[in-house]
Amino acid sequence: MTDGQHNGNQQQSNHHAAPRPSPNNDVKADTKGITVKKNDDIAEWYGQVVAKAELADYSSLRGFIVLRPNGYLIWERIQNELNPKITKIGVRNAYFPLLIPESFFKKEAEHAEGFSPEVAWIEKHPDDPERYAIRPTSETIMYDSYSRWVRSWRDLPLRINQWCSVVRWETKDTKMFIRAREFLWQEGHCVYETERECHKETMKYLEFYRQVAEELLAVPVILGKKTDNDKFAGAKATYAIESLMPDGKSLQMGTSHDLGQGFAKSFGISFLGKDGTTQTPWQNSWGFSTRLIGAMVMTHSDDKGLVLPPRLAKNKIAIVPIIFDDTKAQTIAKAKEIQKLLKRYDPVLDDREGYSAGWKYNDHELHGVPLRIELGPKDIAKEQVVLVRRDTGEKKFVPNAQILDEVRHALDAMQANLFEKAKAFLQSSTTEASEWNAFIAGIDGKKLVLAPHCSGAECEAEIKEVTKGVTTRCIPFKGDKPAAGAVCIRCGQKAKYNVYFGRAY
Ligand SMILES: [Zn+2]
Repeated sequence: MTDGQHNGNQQQSNHHAAPRPSPNNDVKADTKGITVKKNDDIAEWYGQVVAKAELADYSSLRGFIVLRPNGYLIWERIQNELNPKITKIGVRNAYFPLLIPESFFKKEAEHAEGFSPEVAWIEKHPDDPERYAIRPTSETIMYDSYSRWVRSWRDLPLRINQWCSVVRWETKDTKMFIRAREFLWQEGHCVYETERECHKETMKYLEFYRQVAEELLAVPVILGKKTDNDKFAGAKATYAIESLMPDGKSLQMGTSHDLGQGFAKSFGISFLGKDGTTQTPWQNSWGFSTRLIGAMVMTHSDDKGLVLPPRLAKNKIAIVPIIFDDTKAQTIAKAKEIQKLLKRYDPVLDDREGYSAGWKYNDHELHGVPLRIELGPKDIAKEQVVLVRRDTGEKKFVPNAQILDEVRHALDAMQANLFEKAKAFLQSSTTEASEWNAFIAGIDGKKLVLAPHCSGAECEAEIKEVTKGVTTRCIPFKGDKPAAGAVCIRCGQKAKYNVYFGRAY
């Protein structure tokens, strides 16, 4: 998918010593394509798309995955989308230590307890007085520094983000991008003078996450608040964006936590206020991870392989010249001219030798390139190209004079189509229930079910138990008020709110 890959192959093909497989044999012996249908076995299909589009691979280290260059490039594109948004409101990127002393963890009791089952500890060195955790998240190590940096109201707001990896010792099976013991993420940690300012920005970061998910990845999300039972360990409130995967499983795509003053008190962060008194600040933290890539892959890709939303794809077009010996020079020259014309879209010119045009079409489809331009001697004679969209397979003959316009239009249309398709699925896969049988019918129909709930933690646990895994996803910002007199879907007590239930990854 990248330029580098193709340049590498070009160099090889100029090397006469390097044997190239014949196109015909290639197609027949091809094991590169996806061999299972998305609708038949989504788990196997997903694994094949990720592996064959060369996004990621399993590692010999159990529970850990490798991000390959194609996958890492997507992560960089996501970084490039979020960074300008957060820096514009004053967030700066920094980096904190990987290891967290055990004593830091114990300063915030709820936080320590919430993370304890999945914390990986490194073996204590004989010279060290205490043991260290590999960060599962960095609140504690960062706030220790903050307690020295924050002195007066003039130091606030303090807004810092770090791009790093964290380790959480998962015992469930590894699923590339969705669940692994180490994953890449960003974590933002801010300190404010007032509760109001803190809350306002907590919501602002969530809105940035919605924009990244919907406008870059074309994955529609539901915005809401986590139940108290499900909120971040040590937080006052957790807000999240949730999406629904094609198999009906819910996926948390990002969270923004209103931390209140709990961590500030535990870590001794205080400031001299404008009125000369010592005050405790308000904090938030917010994060999303490479899981976003998994959601994007699962949502849009198809039986031919990866489908990348155009805004996300770096190389938005593959130009495939159709080569015959007698017209080769002319065709390549024309293809290069078009590549130059479309430079702003980073087009890949695929003039690899020894592969048929059809093989190349499949290869670019597998790797998710949004548009393909086919160009042969007949097209050159007619002063046109063939433009093919990855999402719909739609083919269009485009006169040379209109290439730029048509490409721009096709990229926009594809970005919108992917989002609209996913949004229609999300809408048709959410339902409401006010009594248990309807609730179970919705869950069995692989839907997200909005239902009234009493807010009791035990009741939530009981629902999870009897349904073998159904959990609350979020209390939506819209539609959270239960109808007058509504009772809890499970226990029949007075309902406190409407909450989405579903099965999750
Ligand atoms: Zn209940």
